[in-house]
Amino acid sequence: MEKVIQYLGKHTAYIPENKERNEPNIGIVIGSEASLLVDAGSSIAHFERIEETLEAHELACPRQIVLTHYHWDHCFAATYYESVLYAQNLTAAKLEYMHTWRLDDAHLLQLRQNGDVSNWSEQMIQKYVPGREHLRVKQADIVFNDGLTFALGSVQAQAIHVGGSHTNDSTLVYVPEDKVLFLGDSLYSSRGAYKREHLQPLLAKIQSLDVEQALLSHREPFNRQEFQAYLQLFSDLERLVGDLDVHIQAHRKFQATYNRKPTPDEFYILRGFVGGNIAKRDQETD
Ligand SMILES: [Zn+2]
Repeated sequence: MEKVIQYLGKHTAYIPENKERNEPNIGIVIGSEASLLVDAGSSIAHFERIEETLEAHELACPRQIVLTHYHWDHCFAATYYESVLYAQNLTAAKLEYMHTWRLDDAHLLQLRQNGDVSNWSEQMIQKYVPGREHLRVKQADIVFNDGLTFALGSVQAQAIHVGGSHTNDSTLVYVPEDKVLFLGDSLYSSRGAYKREHLQPLLAKIQSLDVEQALLSHREPFNRQEFQAYLQLFSDLERLVGDLDVHIQAHRKFQATYNRKPTPDEFYILRGFVGGNIAKRDQETD
């Protein structure tokens, strides 16, 4: 694996994801006195790739880590660093619980049966988290509530708790000097469903920031124009889906409205809104 860093701005960069292994993008804010990692990674193998890359680029120490949310692919590797770990209080509470986890096959099965990890996550952890039998999820060293500003020397990074539809602990990291926004997984759905009432305040918060480059954890960065177009999809498709709770009906309505097939992004968001309606319907009829 190449030890590549992609720059987003003068002080901001990321180590690209590895899709096959579900290793997310790792954000980096580079100050003259310290650097900040946005997320820790998924496994010891991911940690080693990150460490080697940072060393190859001689990035400033000490390093700090802030988590965008508690999901395993973002936090499992935290235990391997000699860095201070920052987390929002909801994230920290989850880490405290996850610290009790054991990850051998039998316990992993139990976690899946409890709904703590999805079927897909169980498979990915089995495949791509080496040494998981000995892994203990690290707890946060420093906990914050609404947000926290990191002064790194020559640059500041702002952690902003936003919650939203993906997880209620989702935290953005914004770097005003570079107008770079690290989004974590905040704009993804949760198990195929968007909860509209949680999504709207998140979108409003994101729209209030001046963003030149934005990075989600599992795709390439957006420039300003691409990001605006991406955000626009949420309002357009929410309106299009309305109350529809059947995937094929929403799909047909899209085709009839736009006279073409949806792009992968449109397809994902469309399904998320329908999925949200299905979840709501099922809840109401329970
Ligand atoms: Zn996630």
